[in-house]
Amino acid sequence: MPDIRPTVGSGVLVLNATYEPLCVVSVRRAAILVLSAKAVCVADGEGFLHSVRHELPVPSVVRLTRYVRVPYRATVGLSRRAIFARDGWRCAYCTGPAETIDHVFPRSRGGRHAWENVVAACARCNHSKGDKTPAELGWRLRTKPAAPKGVAWRVLGHRAPDPRWASWLDLPAEEAAEAA
Ligand SMILES: [Zn+2]
Repeated sequence: MPDIRPTVGSGVLVLNATYEPLCVVSVRRAAILVLSAKAVCVADGEGFLHSVRHELPVPSVVRLTRYVRVPYRATVGLSRRAIFARDGWRCAYCTGPAETIDHVFPRSRGGRHAWENVVAACARCNHSKGDKTPAELGWRLRTKPAAPKGVAWRVLGHRAPDPRWASWLDLPAEEAAEAA
């Protein structure tokens, strides 16, 4: 089975001054923000960073000291990773670990590639579903697929969250750990 789960890299979650999640940056970039007093560390990662004059715990989450206005984006980009994140890395049909993306109403029959028509699925369900609809098979979706909402998706759409970020992304810690 291919390992489609991304490993937790050494990214750092950046929060706005209001604690709203903004983006993920490299440890180096986060360290510069902290050392230049543009951000403060709110959660440590593992290990220490050394420079000539400083020893700094590797940050896991930093918060900007000044509020940054961010343009509001209404829709979350549809990506493979974002679909897995929305569906908790679980198959929409059997709840087993998801490895593929399924079009609920098959593309071969005109189904759209849109948030409302895509779900994470395990390879087995996806294969046995083929070009049928769930109704034709007597299958039921656990939830009606929809575009995800909320600021946490600025981060979740792009990468798997570090479990240490769970409380700032409004995720149950368990789910974050699973997605990681
Ligand atoms: Zn399945």
